[in-house]
Amino acid sequence: MKIEAVELRVVRLPLVTPFRTSQHSQDERIALLVCVHTSEGEGWADCPVSPGPFHEPEFLSGSRAVMAEYLVPMLMAAPGVTAARVQAVLAPVKGHQMAKAALETAVLDAELRAKQMSFAQYLGAVRDRVPVGVSVGITGSLAELISQVEDYLEQGYKRIKLKIEPGWDIEPVRAVRQRFGPDLALQADANTAYSPASAHRLRALDEFGLLLLEQPLAADDLLGHADLAQLLTTPVCLDESITSPRVAAAALRLGACSVVNIKPARVGGYLAARAIHDLCAAHGVPVWCGGMLETGVGRAANLALAALENFTLPGDISATARYFTEDITAPFTLDDGHIAVPSGPGTGTEVLPGVLDRLTTHREILR
Ligand code: MG
Repeated sequence: MKIEAVELRVVRLPLVTPFRTSQHSQDERIALLVCVHTSEGEGWADCPVSPGPFHEPEFLSGSRAVMAEYLVPMLMAAPGVTAARVQAVLAPVKGHQMAKAALETAVLDAELRAKQMSFAQYLGAVRDRVPVGVSVGITGSLAELISQVEDYLEQGYKRIKLKIEPGWDIEPVRAVRQRFGPDLALQADANTAYSPASAHRLRALDEFGLLLLEQPLAADDLLGHADLAQLLTTPVCLDESITSPRVAAAALRLGACSVVNIKPARVGGYLAARAIHDLCAAHGVPVWCGGMLETGVGRAANLALAALENFTLPGDISATARYFTEDITAPFTLDDGHIAVPSGPGTGTEVLPGVLDRLTTHREILR
């Protein structure tokens, strides 16, 4: 396959409600989309970077620059590019996993569309719909939190995840557990907000029967997580720490986690995500698919990944309406707490040109 041009688009999608984690708050999603124009057709991908480097080190204008100056010229110069070769072609550039992942995904989408094969088939999906959960941001008021959780449960979500931080942890978890009872599938996500010295505070969460506690410590603190995992009865899950299959292997070897949240964009794409899935399966460690406020393009591919066998916990994929009033693809909807896995060629979803053009704030074509 020959890459003829790469189109980068910045689109602006207002969020239905502001979303706050321990690290940052946002009231709109400014997304970076990548479209590869190849000798065999087009392929699309979502590069779910944020405008600033506050959640991940990569950020929107940095990703645009590294693609335009380095990654895209390297891909265009390479003969016979396939998705399986993208990482090798781009290997001379250090880091920039999310930008590389977006290019690999766009090439994979083009390749699979040309072969009339879906992401789900290609990745080895075993389900045609997946149970999904919802991530509830820090609200600052227990009444508001309870009301939001009630609303999501009425919509049918199968699992609730609460964002926590020091000072907003024990009380909100207790309040939700007391209000909705012991059978609610409930977990908490700290987004790296704690230090090892706060282990005693995190231990207080053990009494609430959480499915897991996600990423309490810094992303590079695998040993700290291994020590913490010994102290807690709540399973420790890693998210921000998991940046590649190699790091995932180290985390498992060290006992730093007993559950893994796989974010395809952060680990370098869907091929690396599948490799981490396989590694965790071989170790008996369950995985689930996290979310990075993806547009419909990224959501579709995540649904395919979440349909693999060892994705045994509901992901943060959520229906489109949880985030956006309007998306650049047809919306994904909940049916009995599940979302159908797209079965059409490639990601199985189509970008709506009229909406895309209306929401686009910047467009560049690299040749
Ligand atoms: Mg997380």
